[in-house]
Amino acid sequence: MSADLLYFIIPCYNEEEVLPETAKRLKKKTTELIQSGKISKESRICFVNDGSGDSTWEIISKLHDSDPVFSGINLSRNRGHQNALLAGLMTVKDFCDLTISMDADLQDDIGVCDQMIDKYHEGKDIVYGVRSTRKRDSRFKKTTAQGFYKMMNRMGAETVYNHADYRLMSRRALNALSEFEEVNLFLRGMVPLIGFPADIVYYERAERFAGASKYPLKKMISFAVDGVTSFSTRPLDMIARTGGFLFLAGAAALIVELIRCAAGRAVPGWIFATLSVWAVGGLILLAVGIVGVYTGKTYMESKKRPRYIVERFLDQDHGFVS
Ligand code: UDP
Ligand code: MG
Repeated sequence: MSADLLYFIIPCYNEEEVLPETAKRLKKKTTELIQSGKISKESRICFVNDGSGDSTWEIISKLHDSDPVFSGINLSRNRGHQNALLAGLMTVKDFCDLTISMDADLQDDIGVCDQMIDKYHEGKDIVYGVRSTRKRDSRFKKTTAQGFYKMMNRMGAETVYNHADYRLMSRRALNALSEFEEVNLFLRGMVPLIGFPADIVYYERAERFAGASKYPLKKMISFAVDGVTSFSTRPLDMIARTGGFLFLAGAAALIVELIRCAAGRAVPGWIFATLSVWAVGGLILLAVGIVGVYTGKTYMESKKRPRYIVERFLDQDHGFVS
């Protein structure tokens, strides 16, 4: 049996500072894996340039020219981490046996690839890389990230706890993923829905090797909102339930007031009434807003726009220019 062909998929957005080092370490790992017979010698490291404004694409092109082990995909513009990752996976899925996706900044421990591939050989289609601790993340990042996973699960989007997008996927799993046509991508929620045999490997997440995080708080919040609203309608249920409760409470208060009126007692409580108007008004706006988010998503999905456009694919055996 010939060894299986692996593609590393690395989304890159303005990563000129780390890319040379990432390429060096991945090349070393790939060589080791080939020598130990775990993967075929045609295996590749594929960088996806997500519309970077710096010299990321030039670096990728040079790497490809200097060594066929490096391949590159240039997206027509910046589409975000999730779309860039999907672009990589979908472009290579027809000529590889397995992929391992990871970030460009060397935060994911390349060392556990061996374990991932062993699990693949044991018959797993999906292997999730899970952070064992978050010692090196700032306290802020740690708390917000932990809160994020907890909230996601409570809201009904089942994700693997402490797993980002460092994961191995078999060709079979990639083909299954290609059947998901949604435009609002949240791969961490989608991949577990595939349902093929899966396993976990643990690793220690390092600090970003160089450069700044491309996920500031604002992006993290919109990622969380996207995750929840793309995977569950539970917020809508919650709104309906809160609305029902408030309506009943209001009706009960009204009855009490009517009885007091009938008894001829004056009604003090204008302040209470005004406050309720503000509180309930705010709640209604929030509710309408959440419904709006879902409607917006449905609108975007109904357009069926492409999730990414490949401008160029550099690959020794399979490259094409589109
Ligand atoms: N990334 C991307 N497109 C974007 C933003 C980020 O392809 O619009 C890539 C980035 O180059 C990196 C990965 O997604 O490889 C994760 O980003 P980052 O390390 O900045 O996120 P963090 O680890 O801070 O959450
Ligand atoms: Mg990072």
